[in-house]
Amino acid sequence: MIQIPKGCKDVLPSQVYAWHKIEDTARKIAASYAFKEIRTPVFEHTELFARGVGDTTDIVNKEMYTFLDKGGRSVTLRPEGTAGVARAFLEHGLTGGVMPFKAYYLISAFRYERPQAGRLREFHQFGCELYGAAGPAADAEVISLADGFLKALGLKEVSLELNSIGCKQCRARYHAALKAYFAPHIGEMCADCRVRFEKNPMRILDCKEEGCRAVAAGAPRMLEYLCDDCRAHFDGVQALLKEAGVAFTVDPSIVRGLDYYSRTVFEFVSAAAGAQGTVLGGGRYDTLLEQVGGKSVPAVGFAAGMERLLMVMEAENCLPRQEEGVACYLAGMDEAARQKAFLLAADLRRAGVSCEVDLMDRSVKAQFKYADKTGARFVAVLGERELEEGAAEVKDMKNSCAERVKFQELANYIQRRT
Ligand code: ATP
Ligand code: MG
Repeated sequence: MIQIPKGCKDVLPSQVYAWHKIEDTARKIAASYAFKEIRTPVFEHTELFARGVGDTTDIVNKEMYTFLDKGGRSVTLRPEGTAGVARAFLEHGLTGGVMPFKAYYLISAFRYERPQAGRLREFHQFGCELYGAAGPAADAEVISLADGFLKALGLKEVSLELNSIGCKQCRARYHAALKAYFAPHIGEMCADCRVRFEKNPMRILDCKEEGCRAVAAGAPRMLEYLCDDCRAHFDGVQALLKEAGVAFTVDPSIVRGLDYYSRTVFEFVSAAAGAQGTVLGGGRYDTLLEQVGGKSVPAVGFAAGMERLLMVMEAENCLPRQEEGVACYLAGMDEAARQKAFLLAADLRRAGVSCEVDLMDRSVKAQFKYADKTGARFVAVLGERELEEGAAEVKDMKNSCAERVKFQELANYIQRRT
């Protein structure tokens, strides 16, 4: 037996309704903020992620699905959505178009990680990107979109943690302070963090190793190093969120795993999801476009992990009930009645009524059993007498009462009651 690759998951028809709920909610909330969907390729030139995501990140260093195609080019399955959108934005000259540019995506992403609950090799994201607006209102808009999305899913125990990691200028001073702090502890830190110490000391704050976390707990805080502009921006974001009724706490330890962030960073964290509690993360990335070779355009966005949302929805008991069955099952008692059922079904479907007929040559009793099991709302029974009368015996599966309904009135009858 060939098995599914490690870290991947099938979504069976009996489970997909929960995904539809997330996707429908995402599309609705995005539309209400005038974000339009964007679709970019599953794979890109490796270079895009190396430059866009950043070569000091875990994603680029350890987690990418990179391979040579038959033409000898190095391509990579997208580990996230932001870099591809940035490339498309530049490549189609949208920097010269209507601003702000607002786009959302629903995608699969790929990272070579150690699979565990909430951590997969193929996973799915809902993400939003806003380009062109530098002020705090854009951050607040994107964050309240994210907040509205999680609330619309019914989640209650998710909290927003907010931080600012400043700009290039103030971060340089902060890096110096971090290095001074970490230097005497270098021996207690993991191999990765020793590299981070040289390349990007702030990333040490994001390390999940016990020893490194202990050291990082006493490290200086970025918030104390913010320049006046970054401080004003951060204050602005907080004021707007308060006005919008979006609850948050400032958490100085949030630095996010990607290189492209500046100023605002945030995570929505669930206590219900165990170790993989971050269901949504994002921030501002004003330098990303330059990093991938374009001009400088301010940007802010987020991505939510759909598998983690499902976990949290399950834990908080807000998974939707399974989708219902067809509006009408047409049961035939004999061959002639089955044929009529088949024709009637075509009429009903043309009228927009979902229906099913027997395809398994089952007895009427077995057809009823199937209709009941699959959640059909009504069952229309056809036999010799019904064909003569031109009417079906329509049984309401919710309250077991039955009525005679003329064939030509059947669609209407069902529509009015479903
Ligand atoms: P983590 O710190 O948990 O590894 P991350 O910082 O790598 O997360 P992002 O790159 O910000 O995550 O991705 C945004 C969201 O996508 C995460 O908050 C999470 O919900 C989800 N996500 C990231 N990696 C995975 C994965 N391997 N499997 C499932 N979901 C994931
Ligand atoms: Mg990660």
